[in-house]
Amino acid sequence: MFVDQVSITVQAGNGGDGCVSFRRAKYIPKGGPDGGDGGKGGDVIFYADPGLNTLIDFRGVRLWAAKNGEPGRGKQQYGRAGDDRVIKIPPGTLIYNEETGELIHDIAPDERFVIARGGRGGFGNEHFKSPTNQAPRKATPGEPGERLDLRLELKLIAEVGLVGLPNAGKSTLLKALTRADPKIADYPFTTLSPQLGIAEIEPSRRLVFADIPGLIEGAAGGAGLGHDFLRHIERTQVILHLLDASPIDGTTPAENYRTIRAELAGYSPLLAEKRELIALNKTDLFADEAETQEAVRSLRSELRLGTETDVVPISGAAGTGMIPLLEALWSMVHPSGEKVEGWKPA
Ligand code: GDP
Ligand code: MG
Repeated sequence: MFVDQVSITVQAGNGGDGCVSFRRAKYIPKGGPDGGDGGKGGDVIFYADPGLNTLIDFRGVRLWAAKNGEPGRGKQQYGRAGDDRVIKIPPGTLIYNEETGELIHDIAPDERFVIARGGRGGFGNEHFKSPTNQAPRKATPGEPGERLDLRLELKLIAEVGLVGLPNAGKSTLLKALTRADPKIADYPFTTLSPQLGIAEIEPSRRLVFADIPGLIEGAAGGAGLGHDFLRHIERTQVILHLLDASPIDGTTPAENYRTIRAELAGYSPLLAEKRELIALNKTDLFADEAETQEAVRSLRSELRLGTETDVVPISGAAGTGMIPLLEALWSMVHPSGEKVEGWKPA
């Protein structure tokens, strides 16, 4: 199972203190109490935004705090309430108490969930005025806001499965494309730990990649594959087939393409049926653009590719062709141009 996981601290706002104050006005030497109440601290609220599919926004940010309420003031002025802090998370995010390990909530699409309540404001001295005490000097402090250490966990769906022979450049490409590597939990075959990555075209357009071929190589070597893992990887929407444009062992990209396709079909017919994009990698080794185009052309004709299969020339090492590659993959994963409708938590 792929899990994106982060630890954060949420801190709701403290309530503002109540105020001790007495009215001062001309001709009224001893005015009554007029200290106002403090404002309520802001809540910390989770909102499950259907447009999000990763927890990448939390990397490097530990504390998520709402604003404190303002203290009360004289002339019966109440303190302003602190603003809430609304934190957007993907639907399907599991919210755990980090200390106890207890599951607090499993958030549904579009749901708002108050995770930490702001403290109430304290009472100003006006509040304590009574027939027996016309001049109370008493006010109360605001309550502290709730503070919690949380662990957020999201099961990720890999949208793009990366396949290719060893040395095709999969790891290098994944590193060039992605800026976060989620962990794989409960995967028993640690020696085969597959690579995952999250690529971001822009914050609202992210793609989760999984390096599948490591698994194929392992499977060929006799190591078993977890059924759960296979089921999960089969939810991949698009296969990105990475080819070395000029393999040093003298093979051709077309031959290597067929090798991997055969392995893929043997490994998982379901995966083999997915839509596919071919990336011709290591084009930095070509002398010029014309050579690159020629290589693309000859690959297309050798494989008799129809118009439905795209071939994108790239260089993972040089970082060229990354944007066209991501855009092509994005439009395959979201064919109708919709942002992320139809997204479902794993
Ligand atoms: P993997 O086995 O598919 O994960 O391939 P790696 O990413 O480990 O790369 C295999 C070898 O190819 C390494 O020596 C990389 O430095 C090299 N390589 C990867 N991408 C490129 C590229 O775009 N251009 C060139 N010239 N070499 C590359
Ligand atoms: Mg690798």
